[in-house]
Amino acid sequence: MSVAPSGSASVAPKAPGRQRAQRRQPKSCPQPTALLAWYDLNRRLLPWRAASGERADPYRVWLSEIMLQQTTVKAVAPYYARFLARWPDLRALAAAPLEEVLKSWAGLGYYARARNLHACARAVTERHGGNFPASEAALRALPGIGDYTAAAIAAIAFDAPASPVDGNIERVVARLFAVAALLPGAKPQLRRLARALVPQRRAGDFAQAMMDLGATICSPKKPACALCPWNDNCAAFARGDAETFPRRTPKREGALRRGAAFVVRRADGYLLVRPRPAKGLLGGMTEVPTTAWSADFDESDVLTHAPILSSPLPAGERSTSGDRIAGCRERGIAWRRVAGVVRHVFTHFPLELSVYVSDVAAETPAPDGARWAKVSELGGEALPSLMRKVVAHALGE
Ligand code: SF4
Repeated sequence: MSVAPSGSASVAPKAPGRQRAQRRQPKSCPQPTALLAWYDLNRRLLPWRAASGERADPYRVWLSEIMLQQTTVKAVAPYYARFLARWPDLRALAAAPLEEVLKSWAGLGYYARARNLHACARAVTERHGGNFPASEAALRALPGIGDYTAAAIAAIAFDAPASPVDGNIERVVARLFAVAALLPGAKPQLRRLARALVPQRRAGDFAQAMMDLGATICSPKKPACALCPWNDNCAAFARGDAETFPRRTPKREGALRRGAAFVVRRADGYLLVRPRPAKGLLGGMTEVPTTAWSADFDESDVLTHAPILSSPLPAGERSTSGDRIAGCRERGIAWRRVAGVVRHVFTHFPLELSVYVSDVAAETPAPDGARWAKVSELGGEALPSLMRKVVAHALGE
C-alpha cells in the first residue's frame, strides 16, 4: 500500500518565518508496518486498553471513547474506573436510572454525552441483545455514536479496517502530507488520506498507534520528530515547518455572555437547586437558579429574576456569614452580591456570572420547580463544573 503525499491537493506554501527547510521531500510514503513496530514497543498503558494480543471488550472501548470525547485521558481515568466498578457491563448500565448516571458523570462536562451513553446502553440491549454491532453503519445508528466513535469501536473492538480521525489524527495526517487546505474545510481530505493508510491486518492496533503518535510524539507544539517512526516519510518534517500544520481558518471567538446566579442557603444546611431543561446546554443537570445568559445582560434589574421565597430576615440584618446585606430585598428575601464574578468557558462562548446569596430559615419551602439539596451531599449531585464554581464562590470556599 502506498499513498501519494498530499494526495491530489496542493502542498502548503511555507509559513512566514519558517524558511529553514531540511529536505524538500520525504524519502518515501508512510508505511503502516513502521508505525505498528513503533507501537509494539511504545504503546501507552491505558486502563481501557486490552493487553497486547488480547481481544478488546467492546463495552470498555465504547465507554472510554464516549468519555474521551473533548476530554483528556487524565481527567477520564477516575471516571472510567468508577463507572466500571459500579456498572461492570452494558446490561448493568442500561438498568441504571438516568439520574444516577448523570450524577456519576458530574464534573466530566458535555453532559449530553451522559444522556446518550445511557440511551445507547438501552438501545444496544433492546436492539442488539446486549452486544455491540461490529459494523460502522450499525454503530453510527446508536445514540451518541458519531463517525469518529463508530470507527474507533469498529477498529479497536472488532479489528475492522476503519479509520477514526479526531483532532490528533488530523494533525498527524496534515503533517505527513503537508496539506495546504484549511480546517475545517480540509476534514474530508484528511479523512481520505487517513483511511488510505489503514492496513488490512491489525487495523485496531493501527488506529491506537495513530492515536498514540498524535498524543505523545506529534504534539501540537514542538513535535518530537526525531523519535517519530515516520520521520523519513513526513512532508512537513522534510520542509521544516511541521508546527504550522494543520492550517486553520482563523477562529472567531464567541461573544461573552453574562448573567447572575442565585444561591439560597437554608439555616439547616441546604441549598436551593433545580433541574436544567432536558435539552440544550448542560441539559438535565442540576443548577442553582440563574437568569438567562446573554450578551446584553442588564444587572440593574437582576433581582426581578430571583427565586421567590418567604424570608426570615429583614433587609439590613447580618447574614450568617457576617457580611452586611446590601439592603436589596426583592421577592420576599434579602440578597447580597458576592464580590467578583464566576468565569467559565464553554465551547462556543465565555460566560461570566454574578453571584447573589440569600440566607433563609430552616424548613423554608422550596418554590415550584426547585428543591433543597443538602450542602454536605452536593458532591453526589449532578452539578456541572460551572455550578460547582458558583457554589464555591458563594460559600467562600
Ligand atoms: Fe509528526 Fe514529526 Fe512524525 Fe511528521 S515527523 S508525523 S511532524 S512527529
